[in-house]
Amino acid sequence: MSAQPESAEVEKIPCQICRKEVPLSEAKVFEAADYVAYFCGLECYAEWKRHSEQAGKLE
Ligand SMILES: [Zn+2]
Repeated sequence: MSAQPESAEVEKIPCQICRKEVPLSEAKVFEAADYVAYFCGLECYAEWKRHSEQAGKLE
């Protein structure tokens, strides 16, 4: 086996906050009853959490 197709094996998802694409295996995942949110790291998770608490409800 030589060259493998790029991103064939690694599923990537966009961060909920900064839209940076991160491998699903490295993303921080927040799961709630009716949605799932992904983040590139704890900073974005904290940012999202702060926003959602201020807004009072989630999109
Ligand atoms: Zn992010």
